[in-house]
Amino acid sequence: MNKLNIVLFGPPGAGKGTQSELIIKEFNLTHISTGDLFRKHIGEGTELGKEAQRYMDEGELVPDQLVIDMVEAKLSENHTTTGFIFDGFPRTVNQAEALDKLLDRVSNPIAVTIALEVPEEELKRRLLERGKTSGRPDDQNEEKVNTRISVYLAETLPVATYYKEQSKFSSVDGIGSIEDIFARISQAIASHSTI
Ligand code: ADP
Repeated sequence: MNKLNIVLFGPPGAGKGTQSELIIKEFNLTHISTGDLFRKHIGEGTELGKEAQRYMDEGELVPDQLVIDMVEAKLSENHTTTGFIFDGFPRTVNQAEALDKLLDRVSNPIAVTIALEVPEEELKRRLLERGKTSGRPDDQNEEKVNTRISVYLAETLPVATYYKEQSKFSSVDGIGSIEDIFARISQAIASHSTI
């Protein structure tokens, strides 16, 4: 059976986590959020968590190989799933290439990358607002928020081109109610998949 694999793409604060929850319920997918996985490692005090935290606290990316190995482990743990939603991954072209190789092995490619479009000023506002309650150190300081957005523009945005070249890219307006944005995403998924 063919799995439905989706990348949810977008800058920090675009609403990927919120929309992931709705997509998972609707399409019965397994969530792979590399940010959540690292935060779990940090909470459990693992070696990987300690290593990742040094980068996360500064708003920098965790080195590719650490991320890729962690995702590989998650893919094999969940090999019977009906599909994956990748949230916050891939964040570099190198990670996107590695993901394609991992999915090639099981002959289940990415169906579509959905990009949430939100203007930069709104992202900053949302992240600093979230920082008041999330307890995330990377949301609580304007300089770190700015670093994350710059890192996104320099290192992650090229991933959009990578998927555009494969005709697997769809932009969605990330401004509006949660339900309206979800409706736009569902439509984009439907037009790229056979379900
Ligand atoms: P946000 O999208 O709000 O930045 P995430 O939870 O996706 O939040 O990521 C938080 C941090 O975790 C990032 O700033 C980065 O340090 C690290 N991280 C998460 N995913 C990756 C990844 N795929 N590659 C490198 N670092 C990552």
